[in-house]
This record gives sequence, C-alpha cells and structure tokens, in this order.
Amino acid sequence: MNVLDSQLVTGQLRAMGYRFVDDWRGASVVLYNTCSVREQAENKVYSRLGELGIYKRDHQDVVLGVLGCMAERDGVDMLRRFPQLDILCGPGELDKVPLLIDNAVKTKLGARMDAAESAGGGGGLTAGGRAALQGNKHRRSSTLAAAEDQLELLDLSRSFSPDDYSGSAYVRITRGCNKFCTYCVVPNTRGAEVHRAPDHIIDECKRLVDAGVVEITLLGQTVNHYHYDHGASVTIAGVQQPQVGQAVSGPGRGAGTRLTTFADLLDRIHDEVSGLSRLRFVTSFPRDFGDDILQVMADHPRICRYLHVPAQSGSNRMLELMNRGYTVEQYIDLLDRARAYLPGVEIAGDLICGFPTETHEDHQATCDLLRRAQYKNCFVFKYSPRPGTAAITRFQDDVPDVEKKRRNNELLAIQSGISEQVHSRYVGRTVRVFVESVSHKAAKEADASSGATVTLGWEKPVTQLSGRTDGDLIVVFDGEPSLIGSIVQVRVERSAPLTLFGRLVEQAVIA
Ligand code: SF4
Repeated sequence: MNVLDSQLVTGQLRAMGYRFVDDWRGASVVLYNTCSVREQAENKVYSRLGELGIYKRDHQDVVLGVLGCMAERDGVDMLRRFPQLDILCGPGELDKVPLLIDNAVKTKLGARMDAAESAGGGGGLTAGGRAALQGNKHRRSSTLAAAEDQLELLDLSRSFSPDDYSGSAYVRITRGCNKFCTYCVVPNTRGAEVHRAPDHIIDECKRLVDAGVVEITLLGQTVNHYHYDHGASVTIAGVQQPQVGQAVSGPGRGAGTRLTTFADLLDRIHDEVSGLSRLRFVTSFPRDFGDDILQVMADHPRICRYLHVPAQSGSNRMLELMNRGYTVEQYIDLLDRARAYLPGVEIAGDLICGFPTETHEDHQATCDLLRRAQYKNCFVFKYSPRPGTAAITRFQDDVPDVEKKRRNNELLAIQSGISEQVHSRYVGRTVRVFVESVSHKAAKEADASSGATVTLGWEKPVTQLSGRTDGDLIVVFDGEPSLIGSIVQVRVERSAPLTLFGRLVEQAVIA
C-alpha cells in the first residue's frame, strides 16, 4: 500500500514539474513515506530525521516532510520532537502534499525576506519551525472525512506514462480497515474502510494496460472485503465517490443486485480488461473469503492462483485476544476450500509469536497450524507493542524477548522445511514468470565489478533476472534485461527453500 501511495505522490509531483534525484543531498524537498506497523521501520525513519536535522543546519531551505502512518499517528508530538520537520501528512491526505510543499516553500521565502529586511539584507532563514507549523495547519486530521472528498482524485490522477511502469502496477480498491485487530495501528492511521467505485477501478486498469502494464495487483488491507453499493453512491462534480461500506456476509455474488462484491469486481476486470495478462490481489482476510471469489478465480485463467491470507495464530484463545474474528477451524476450512477450487494454488501466511499471555500450548497450536497450512512462505513476526493499538493498553507484554525469539526461530525452521518441499515440486516443470528485475545477487555483483552484465554462452550479454510465477514463487534465471516487464516461460532446474532456478525456454516471451 505504501509503495502505491509513494507512486501516486511521485506522479502528482512529477506532473507539476518536480524532478527526482538519486541522492537526497541534491534535493530541495525530502519526503519520507512511513509505516507504523513495525518498530524497526519507525526507528529507521527517526534515525534519518536525525541525520536530516544535522544537514538542515547548513541547508535551511530544504523542505523536509514525513508522510503516511507515522505522521497520522504521532502528529504534533513528532513536530515537537523534530523541529527540522516542515510537513506532516497522513495517508488519507496525500492529495494535499503539493499544497503543503508550496506552503512550506513560501513560508521559508517569507521568513528569509523578513530576516533580510531586519538585518539590512544580510540575514538567513530564521523561522524553519514556524514554516513547519504553517504547513501543518492545512492538514486535515480525519481520514474518514477524506474518504468522501478529493482523495479519490489522487488515485484517478495517477500518471499513465509508459515510462512509469515496468510491466506491473498496483491499483487500490479499498482504503482503511474496520477490523481493529488489537495489535494493529492501521484502523487508526488509515481510517475506516472505504471502497472505490468499480468503474473507476476498471478504467484505471484499462489505462494502465494501454500504458504497457501486463500485471496488476489489486490492493486493500482486507482486499476481499471489497463491497460497493451502487444504490448508495454519490456523485460530486461528475466524480462517483468512494463509499464507506459494510461487510458482505457470506457467499453470494452481486449479480442482479446493485451491489458489486469482490467476486464481481474480479469478474469484471478479467472480462473488461482483456489486454491484462495477470491479475493478483493482496491482502486477504480469512473471515470474508466466500466460495464466490474462489469460483471466479477458478473460472478465469488470468487471475493468479495465489492467496496471501494471514492466520496470525493457531490458537483460538490468541485469535480472540487479537480480535481476529475467526477460529482456527474456519481458517483451515478456507485453506481446504481454496485448494479444492484451485488445484495448485499457492498460499502465503503471516504469524505473530509472543503475543501477550501466549503459552507454550498456544505456540504449539501455531506450530501445528503452520504444518497443516503448507504455505509456500510465511512471514513470522515477534509481537511488539505499538503505540495507538488496543493491545498496548489492554495487555502486558509478558512473553520475554528471548522466548519470543525461540518461538520465532522454531516457526521459521518449520516453514523452511515446508517451503523447501513446496519449491522442490516445481523442478522439471515449465512455469510462466513475470520478469520483475535484475536479481539482487546479480545487481550486487555487477556493482562490485562495475559491470552490469555477463556473457554466458549467449549471443548477446545476459544477466541474472528475477521474477515470480503465477503462484508468486520467486524464479531466478539468465536472460536479457530487455525481458523485464514481460511474461516468459522458464524451465525449472533446481530449487531452494525460497527460490526456483531455471532456464528460459524457446519462444519464451508470452506477454
Ligand atoms: S485486518 Fe487487522 S491486521 Fe489487517 S489492517 Fe486491519 S486491523 Fe490491521
């Protein structure tokens, strides 16, 4: 979600004439788009702000901003702590970033002129802190209110220049979340769940395909909860507004009704955006995953056989404390239904270990679920209390860190064995791969030797490329960089727990 937000803000600024530089030291405006979910990511931002604070002592004209969840959650506290900040802008207000930059620049200019006047023309900038407050006055604090106003225009105004995409793009279909899992700050920082009008989404997909995109990933915090009630839609200045939706309970398509469910949306995109080669979506919430969605996936070959469905725990007691709203049995039922509808589907999961009061038995139940789930990969997180969540006030963080680490390692070891098995099943098969980039390893080696490519018995120089299968398995193979952004066929020759290694087959490019 943050990647898309960054792309939209970048596109907006580029359209207004801003240029982007590789090194922040050469920039007049430095913006950090932030996430509050993990403590580590936040610490990184604090450290960068410290660095920028020192830099700004000699470069006071530089505009420094923090966007996203940290800005929304910490607000004024952050301004107090980091006087070097000029702009704070929450995720529901990103359409205002150009205005905030403009205000900050004008304030700095005004301050410099005042200082120059009072010092007889020789003064410097004296009011960096005040510039920050002036910019911040334009910040609206309610993400819910933002849902019904101009924010939709940020998505609608994205750039469709082919230069901005290397074959793949994100499209937001919902914003915010209503689930209020006790460990999560997202409902407070991104606000209530809001669903975009399906016509806007489909139009955006079509325009992206026209710009050369072959793979689109639909985004939502609980993407399968998408729900648009046409009877309740409101149009302002000719623009159909996003709407704050209620849950769609149980299976059942919206056909014949004035409702567009997630299954309907997938169906429409698949049929109406015929030039799209691959359609994916993340992240799914276990409770809202009806058979209607699985049926549409089964019926539509260009929708990837891949689900990312976080379980978070294998203990019903923990799930209740986390306020997840489903049981382990219901979660397993979803996995079984998915594999029955979609043979060969790959599933990824998330687990949290060391949540308050988690016992050895709770942890063992999570280990059991992990073995049962047979994920292709699983993200395992050690619980850490996050400001702004219910868990930080409701529960004591009582699992010692050393025990969290032990449980974390045990889960990772189990998953590593499963991932190895899942990946090894692909050896000898030919898979469709969307080519994403030069592989990290090859890029590092190229940097070290100051050369971008190597020759490995090909007529043209080749390098190691990295991509993903329809089931989201990472594939590494040798090929020309010009293949990035296309879909190719790769014969898998060997596997590791998280990677397949293969060779391009003839007539490789299929999209
Ligand atoms: S579903 Fe839970 S974990 Fe996911 S964004 Fe919503 S509150 Fe956070």
